[in-house]
Amino acid sequence: MIDAITSSREAIALEDKFGAHNYHPLPVVLTKGEGVHLWDVEGRRYYDFLSAYSAVNQGHCHPRIIAALISQAQELTLTSRAFHNDKLGLAERLVCETFGYQKALFMNSGAEANETAIKLARKWGYEKKGIPPNSAVIVAAKKNFHGRTTTIISASSDPSATNNFGPFMPGFSIIDYDDVGAIEKALSDPCVCGLWLEPIQGEAGVYVPHDGYLKAAAAACKKNNVLLMMDEIQTGIARTGKMLAADHESVRPDLLILGKALSGGVLPVSCVLADDEVMMLIKPGQHGSTFGGNPLAAAVCMESLQVVKDEGLAENAERMGKIFRARMTALMNRTRVIKLVRGKGLLNAIVINDTEESDTAWNLCMAFMKEGLLAKPTHGNIIRLAPPLVITEEQIHECCDIIEKCLTQ
Ligand code: PLP
Repeated sequence: MIDAITSSREAIALEDKFGAHNYHPLPVVLTKGEGVHLWDVEGRRYYDFLSAYSAVNQGHCHPRIIAALISQAQELTLTSRAFHNDKLGLAERLVCETFGYQKALFMNSGAEANETAIKLARKWGYEKKGIPPNSAVIVAAKKNFHGRTTTIISASSDPSATNNFGPFMPGFSIIDYDDVGAIEKALSDPCVCGLWLEPIQGEAGVYVPHDGYLKAAAAACKKNNVLLMMDEIQTGIARTGKMLAADHESVRPDLLILGKALSGGVLPVSCVLADDEVMMLIKPGQHGSTFGGNPLAAAVCMESLQVVKDEGLAENAERMGKIFRARMTALMNRTRVIKLVRGKGLLNAIVINDTEESDTAWNLCMAFMKEGLLAKPTHGNIIRLAPPLVITEEQIHECCDIIEKCLTQ
């Protein structure tokens, strides 16, 4: 029998004593979720405006996803890829048909999917582009966030992600984000195999590049025979008002990297999509994961994607996002308490001032929490606001009222 937690204070004290201090959470202890709402152990209800960093696009504990989880869990959960299972092929077909690719490779975390994309791009670079051994380069953007492994942080420009974690993996070249000239220059190096981008930089503070940036990036990749690797782990699965953020510019990456909402926040499920020319370079034994593509994940993934389609969540994100930004822009123009509102669909941020190292955003999130809304700063001065995509018009207005009240007090 597992002991039960009876108060927030007790839960926080336990984590503090026995858990690594690798996060700085808001002081709220959650015990239940449903749709756009979360409840703490004292029974207080909150609007979730983080959605587990966009993993819970379908809303907390979506009944259809939970039903798929339970029914599959009662049949078969894990076989490893040493054997086939009767759900993986169905999930592979669904993601390939949904996103328009020939092959899918399932992993678990977002970081693993990015690692997979790096390996695929390098392999393609050596075996198809003819890059000399061990000299392939992947071009990444400043302020990127692609995960926490030692290889991935080797492409990070954030000192808190890299300090004292070296030595780093060679083979990355870092350029300014949203700078087409920088891409063209970097890709002219014949050793470049991949251009690795987020279509909107989420962790950087929901930084939306100018219209045409992704299209220009895709054109530069084509011109220089480089693979476009698009990390849609946070932006994908309807979050920005289209199934993929790259869809806003009708760009089709060579390697599409997905995670988070691929499982509706129920299990770690990620995948990389590509066409045969790239994916078939991976031969048995060259890459894998014990849990990747397990039947439980496959069943949950299929139901999660189907829910997004059946409930029109991309359309809802587009519509609710417009209402949200209109309200925040009106507030900004009226009161000047915020400096900037930006985002697409329901991936938005408010920028409060110019001081990245301030505690303003944290203090505001504490005030939101007291008023029943949970959000988290991405920097000292930026708050990302990203509710589950099932939010209704009435609810989004209620949340805007809360945000307005806290900002104007
Ligand atoms: N890529 C992007 C764009 C992300 O936002 C994240 C997580 O926030 C990741 C990769 C890493 O995903 P995971 O935490 O599942 O490894």
